[in-house]
Amino acid sequence: MREHVPISKHLIITEKLYNINIDHQKVRKALYKYLALISDDNNFRCYICGYHPVILTFDVTRKVAFKMGKDQCHEEQYDGKVNTKVFWDNVNKCVIEGNPEKYIKPSLHDWAPFIPEISMKSDEVLNTEYLKGNDANDEQEFLECLTEESLEKLLDLADVQNLRSLCQECGIENTSQLSRNRCIEKLINALQNHTKVDNFFVKIWHSSGGLLTASCPHGCVYCLKFLIRPESPRDIGDLLLSLAHPPNIVISDIPHMVAAHVNKREGRNLFNPYCGRVVEASDENIRLAEANALMVSKEWINLRDSKAKSGLNIHGTDIHPLTLVTQRLSLCDRFHEGNTKQKKEFLRKTGQIKELLEINTETAEQVNSFLSKSLSFIDCMSPVHHLLVVKSMLSLRNMEINS
Ligand SMILES: [Zn+2]
Repeated sequence: MREHVPISKHLIITEKLYNINIDHQKVRKALYKYLALISDDNNFRCYICGYHPVILTFDVTRKVAFKMGKDQCHEEQYDGKVNTKVFWDNVNKCVIEGNPEKYIKPSLHDWAPFIPEISMKSDEVLNTEYLKGNDANDEQEFLECLTEESLEKLLDLADVQNLRSLCQECGIENTSQLSRNRCIEKLINALQNHTKVDNFFVKIWHSSGGLLTASCPHGCVYCLKFLIRPESPRDIGDLLLSLAHPPNIVISDIPHMVAAHVNKREGRNLFNPYCGRVVEASDENIRLAEANALMVSKEWINLRDSKAKSGLNIHGTDIHPLTLVTQRLSLCDRFHEGNTKQKKEFLRKTGQIKELLEINTETAEQVNSFLSKSLSFIDCMSPVHHLLVVKSMLSLRNMEINS
């Protein structure tokens, strides 16, 4: 797993090398059981950043997905909370008993992210994917922004035949004459309805919505959220609000949407002040940002490597135990600084804060690149095996970084 070699390839090499026959299925099962039996939860932290990091970078890799049929996307009424301990115990039990679907199946109501026990607020963590694309909910405007971007990437994965049949479904005529690019262009214009986007997503990809990770500036992964549906700021919100102490600095490629979504959803300003911008959105600050001349200092960031003071009583507050401030900033990574056209959102760059100039904001991209080397085997696994193997790979990676 560390070297991204599928177990079958490894076994074939061993057979040839020693001129022996190995029962591949037996070894594969033994490996899965071993992974299910070991406890590696404590690996999901960085020795420098501790249990409650001050800075986390969030990103989705859409390529890391498992096979999932359309009928597995049911909407169920539930309160958006899942017991993560029970869920991950069930993942392990399915693998140990050799029955991948005995206790869990991908669903919107019984599907939990992974957060190490000591870093989460309680065993009941949030997964509100069932609210995505729901016309009745109040996040429509954010989903609309995101859907167009996601949709283009999604459609790009489909072959021309698939695209033509989707065009027909949308009532587009003379589809047999359309080129691939023309199909994509017409579909993006035609698709305003999120329910349709969900259906299309399943048809094109036949798999889940990807993997959302949260990693510290040293590259250690803290949280995993295996998505059933296309990503939205809601997913980052679910992880942030499930943490005992959300980081002061949240880095993502959609920082304006994350801040707006979380503040609206919570009915309080977790991202504060200035809705998580570096400074107030005044004309002068925007002018400075446009001229790349904005630079401020937030000295509390320097406390990120310190130890929490003993005897702290911050229960029920938003005070972070290391920085001792309630400020929360939602910033963009350097790759995605041009993701927004709104001038006030130019005030969300890590490069505008002196203490963040040396910070690695590309850790999420590095996690994605690490996982992409193993796509050939993690993509075709059953959901349960996919969850277990991806988590184990990231656990090994964290161990290496920490050592
Ligand atoms: Zn770290």
